[in-house]
Amino acid sequence: MEDQNSCRGGFQNCLNAQQTAASGLIFKERFLWEKSREGRCAISIPTQDVEESPLDASLIGDAPELPQLSELDVVRHYTRLSQWNFGVDSGMYPLGSCTMKYNPKTNEVQAATSGFATAHPLLDEDLSQGALEMIYNLEQYLAEITGMDAVTLQPAAGAHGELAGMLAIHAYHAKNGHQRKKIIIPDTAHGTNPASATLCGYESINIHSGDDGILTPEAVAAVMDEETAGIMITNPNTLGLFEENIKEIAKIVHAKGGLVYGDGANMNAIMGIVKPGELGIDVLHLNLHKTFSTPHGGGGPGSGPIAVVKALEPFLPVPRVKKIPSASEQLSSKDECNLNTNGSKYTLVYDKPDSMGRLLTFHGHFGIMLRAYSYILSMGSEGLTNVSKLAVLNANYIKESLKDYFHLPYNRPCMHECVFTDKFQSDNGVTTLDMAKRIMDYGFHPPTVYFPLVVHGAIMIEPTETESKETIDQFIDALKSVAQEAKDNPAILKAAPHLPKLSRLDEVSAARKPVLRG
Ligand SMILES: *Cc1c(COP(=O)(O)O)cnc(C)c1O
Repeated sequence: MEDQNSCRGGFQNCLNAQQTAASGLIFKERFLWEKSREGRCAISIPTQDVEESPLDASLIGDAPELPQLSELDVVRHYTRLSQWNFGVDSGMYPLGSCTMKYNPKTNEVQAATSGFATAHPLLDEDLSQGALEMIYNLEQYLAEITGMDAVTLQPAAGAHGELAGMLAIHAYHAKNGHQRKKIIIPDTAHGTNPASATLCGYESINIHSGDDGILTPEAVAAVMDEETAGIMITNPNTLGLFEENIKEIAKIVHAKGGLVYGDGANMNAIMGIVKPGELGIDVLHLNLHKTFSTPHGGGGPGSGPIAVVKALEPFLPVPRVKKIPSASEQLSSKDECNLNTNGSKYTLVYDKPDSMGRLLTFHGHFGIMLRAYSYILSMGSEGLTNVSKLAVLNANYIKESLKDYFHLPYNRPCMHECVFTDKFQSDNGVTTLDMAKRIMDYGFHPPTVYFPLVVHGAIMIEPTETESKETIDQFIDALKSVAQEAKDNPAILKAAPHLPKLSRLDEVSAARKPVLRG
């Protein structure tokens, strides 16, 4: 058996090079079947004191064959397997575009509160008042954060929110008596944008960003016409840059009767600082599983609410949660944001003739909403604003610290993420992929690579707000060291990673012919 703790491939230098990577014990793990011993068992049941009666064999079929193991065997097996994984709880995870941030554990605890966790969506409204109140309040908070008029929490993820938003735009044009054919989508858009537009029957009209990485009003004006339903803009865009001309662009689109779709997946950069509703956006999706405290990346459920202006509210999915204020509240409160609910009732409204209908069963992904609600309440408005300030500060700190080492295609202040390329290293035959693989030997998850597509050999880094200065400095040092290795010893990078249990994988076969059974 190969010694798991030594460096592979004759790679001598790794203990110096690895500054933060583990050098502790990593066990080779055998299959449970190999550990199985006849008669070993994890439970002991009291001696039977009732008469035995055989089960109807036709009902149970053949008993499954299972490995025989003690409780400790099983606990160690799965604990060790979990340690092979890398997540934000084990180290820095600087994936750009996806906001893989640390989500405070308190929000997990609140979401597991038994009253919520065991609530059944088919319970009567009278018995679901707390759940409906939470949904209503969360919609109000998200409307406040985005500066929009109404929110639905139904969509199951960001791309599903995009579909909902595009269906709203489609329904709006249909209602106005003239359906349109096209949607403008800039080259910095997320790949899901054109897909969502296509699902609604729109043709995507691709336009290029300007030399400084953001859209120009001229590029939009050149293609906007009365056959164009609107534009989909990611802001901050996928280069991590704020679309500074957004207001002017929105005016151009509105002047021709079009609507502006905002991809708000990058809200982590602007919460409490700018409200999309004040920029001329008509419909925006959020990713609760990026910005608002739900871990993601494991393919678990997400939530992609959309926020809309008044004109689009009639098209939102049903049911809508409506608040019926108590008599005293109606008299006493003129404060729109008053969520004090003493005596108020919440009810589900289905009778919305222009609604796009249902997008998901029941109320959407309720557990994700609870985490977001808990996150917003525990952070408060100042806390959320600080999240965005720190996310932006950290990304700019990395950008400034590394720009002499890696080519920076857009040398200007960024938002929550920064984009480098492999241009300085490619003369030595070192690519973005090699550097991303090598950074694992230093104990970091690789950043996003080769995205956005508009940048050749992109390395996209999003540190997020929660990483400490020490961790970010270690990450910066690691990348500087990788840049040095690219000059001095490219072979190290070409064979990286050296320390993980597996080195380079055949990613194409892994995707095309996955082996899902051991
Ligand atoms: C993640 C992301 C999406 C898609 O969201 P999902 O929840 O993965 O469907 C859309 N746009 C941008 C900019 C994103 O980062």
